[in-house]
Amino acid sequence: MNFADRMSRLGTENAFEVLAEVKKLEAQGRDVVSFAIGEPDFDTPEHIKEAAIRAMAGNETHYAPSAGILPLREEIASYVARTRNIEVHPDEVVVTPGAKPIMFFTIQALVNPGDEVIYPTPGFPIYESLIRFVGGHPVPVPLLEERNFSFDVEYLAKLITPKTKLIILNSPQNPTGGMLSYEDLRFLSELAVQHDLWVLADEIYSRIVYSGEFHSISSFPGMKERTVILDGFSKTYAMTGWRLGYGVMNRRLAELVARLVTNSESCTNTFVQYGGIAALTGPQDAVTAMVAEFKARRDLIVEELNRIPGVKCLVPGGAFYVYPNVSGVCQNLGFASAKELQQHFLHAAGVAVLPRTAFGSRTEHENGEYIRLSYATSREKIREGISRMREAVERA
Ligand code: PLP
Repeated sequence: MNFADRMSRLGTENAFEVLAEVKKLEAQGRDVVSFAIGEPDFDTPEHIKEAAIRAMAGNETHYAPSAGILPLREEIASYVARTRNIEVHPDEVVVTPGAKPIMFFTIQALVNPGDEVIYPTPGFPIYESLIRFVGGHPVPVPLLEERNFSFDVEYLAKLITPKTKLIILNSPQNPTGGMLSYEDLRFLSELAVQHDLWVLADEIYSRIVYSGEFHSISSFPGMKERTVILDGFSKTYAMTGWRLGYGVMNRRLAELVARLVTNSESCTNTFVQYGGIAALTGPQDAVTAMVAEFKARRDLIVEELNRIPGVKCLVPGGAFYVYPNVSGVCQNLGFASAKELQQHFLHAAGVAVLPRTAFGSRTEHENGEYIRLSYATSREKIREGISRMREAVERA
């Protein structure tokens, strides 16, 4: 019995595998501090839950249009127009179950076999997985610690060939927490216009910014029609399990993406979309409070990590991840890679982190070992987890 060839090219998100391992250990009675999963530990604000409950009670339980209900698309259009300083029409919005399908669908809709797609590494592993899945050629751009995990835009410019179709950007970035500067975005926008390229701008962490300002590449001249903005509710409003996200893109592409929705899930859950309207139109104080708390945790975790011998951790500007260099620890403990160190932390210290290998292929420019920790967990857990890691390093 054979499977389709393309399945051999589909990757995965290792975070879910580590999560399963954590659950298994917990079932055996182990107490694990997990820094593995990228989701806010806060609950969804009450007014958002109430709006969805009201919609369900009011029988908003039928199929919805594939692109999403109009009142939500109108609110998203207005929100994205305000935050990116561009004009957005509701027909340029497609609502999906979580933001992830926007990656899946836009890559399906844009990339032919043999087309080259430029994307960041380390980065969200699904980019590389999907590029390969559709038969595209992944062209990684290294995000290096010595450049504060920002793009080397001059290097990226040299990677563009006649086959380049799409550039994927992610700012604030998973896993490094790095941010793209205004100048770099302007340079990239000029490249995209000059070479007639599409840009998938993964802006899922756009509201989780601590230092500096968030900028969208879509705001630059000539960019709106060639940019797909990916954003959603999962991170900003602590709604990961609701599955609600969206893409903003030119009308013709939006029609194709909506057709992919029709061919797959038909539509996004109808009453959940009413929760989305409440999120965008209601009070934003829960978001402000959550981001302030994340900032305090960021400062705490960076300080604590840098006290572990052999760890070097930069201060990230956004998202809720830190990406420390652990080459020194690997060397001191005789581990060949961060993957071995990750296993050591999990089994000897009861602390779950993700190793470098969870974030796409590495290029020859990168030689350190890294782990990612999500600090979307309480300050007590951060103190406890990092002190366990320190003990496991000092003990060994
Ligand atoms: N983009 C990035 C960079 C992410 O880290 C994630 C989730 O971890 C997503 C997109 C997907 O978000 P959603 O849960 O809304 O599908």
